[in-house]
Amino acid sequence: MLLPEFRATEDCMGVANECFALAQRIFPICRSITGDGVRQTLGVLGEYIPLKPVEVPSGTPVLDWEVPHEWNVRDAYIKGPDGRKVVDFQSNNLHLVSYSRPVSARMALAELRTHLFSLPQHPDWIPYRTSYYRDAWGFCLTHRALESLSEGEYEVVVDTSHEPGSLTYAELVLPGESPQEVLIYTHVCHPSLANDNVSGMSLATMLARHLAPTTHHFTYRFVFAPTTIGSVTWLARNEANVGRIAYGLVMGLTGDRGALTYKASRRGDTAIDAAARHVLPNLDPNARLEPFSPYGYDERNFCSPGFNLAVGRLTRSANGKYPEYHSSADNLDLIEPRSIAETFLACVQILRVLEHNVCFVNLRPKGEPRLGPRGLFRTTGGTDPGRLEHAYLWLLNQSDGGRSLLEIAERAGMPFDFVYQAACDLQKAGLVERAPREGS
Ligand code: ZN
Repeated sequence: MLLPEFRATEDCMGVANECFALAQRIFPICRSITGDGVRQTLGVLGEYIPLKPVEVPSGTPVLDWEVPHEWNVRDAYIKGPDGRKVVDFQSNNLHLVSYSRPVSARMALAELRTHLFSLPQHPDWIPYRTSYYRDAWGFCLTHRALESLSEGEYEVVVDTSHEPGSLTYAELVLPGESPQEVLIYTHVCHPSLANDNVSGMSLATMLARHLAPTTHHFTYRFVFAPTTIGSVTWLARNEANVGRIAYGLVMGLTGDRGALTYKASRRGDTAIDAAARHVLPNLDPNARLEPFSPYGYDERNFCSPGFNLAVGRLTRSANGKYPEYHSSADNLDLIEPRSIAETFLACVQILRVLEHNVCFVNLRPKGEPRLGPRGLFRTTGGTDPGRLEHAYLWLLNQSDGGRSLLEIAERAGMPFDFVYQAACDLQKAGLVERAPREGS
């Protein structure tokens, strides 16, 4: 069994604590869709797994897009009429609108206000805003701070560079028995926001670290890249090889207290969709299973009609569906190890279904074979068979080479892992054998 040490949420608490510690390390870094913050972050993740960084030069055409200029920040602040800093990038990187162009100017409050963003409904939170692909600048601040600004002349300094450079992403490939791949994609472009997506980067890193020493059927490809332009760039560079991607999971927002949410692939009926539909409700009765929609994270690109890959998305709360989303309240208090542990387990269980969802063939299909002499049935008769015996009976009855273990688990109303274990018992007893896998 793939990663047999992780069967319950409690088993994943050690990993979750490691994820949380990693999240604390990378939380303060100022990231964007390009720039040194992404490189620095990937450098930290690279201490845990052997990541291969890729640099794609600005101006490179990628599908219908172009790799943008690289953006870096040295400093940014606003000084009030009395010369004191009223907004300071150094105290929180959310203060500067991402991709702001350089500015050095003095202006009246009325003009300054057209460049300021706040959240009146949450007066103590700093919003997160971006100005990708626009020649603009701006600052974000708490509504309370905005309201306290007095009339007068302000000094604005945005010391940024916005010039040809490159877009950075990183990959890790874990070869399996089959060249068919499972793609795990997570976005690396958000600054100090914990759930979105320090949590996803940490979890993907730890998942890769635990998968690396195991043997597995599929080849696993982990991609850490900025959202939208990152997946567009990756797809443009790997267009000839996307046929290898059997399944994929866009993963992010993995640590908050909201219920697990799986968004189906555009196709909706692939094995990863079926796996998630089976795994999530077994883990949490409040889990949400959502149909595909062309809005969200990088599943939009993997599921665009020209690729139409079997790629779903796993989050806890989804993008835009929690009050703290894209604000300074999405901080380390919003994520917790227990939620991270459950998300980690959901990933492991989905991958386990993909790995082990094979068909078996009953080698004694004429009549019900005797389980007792093979040590598979309780010796005392007269009572109903137990759960494990039920699983054996379901497997023996349904294993005609055409029904997968997942289909049998669904039909029997049993967790996949349990049915898989039962199939292994029957195989050991010589009652079933594995049918060859389709296409690999
Ligand atoms: Zn986001």
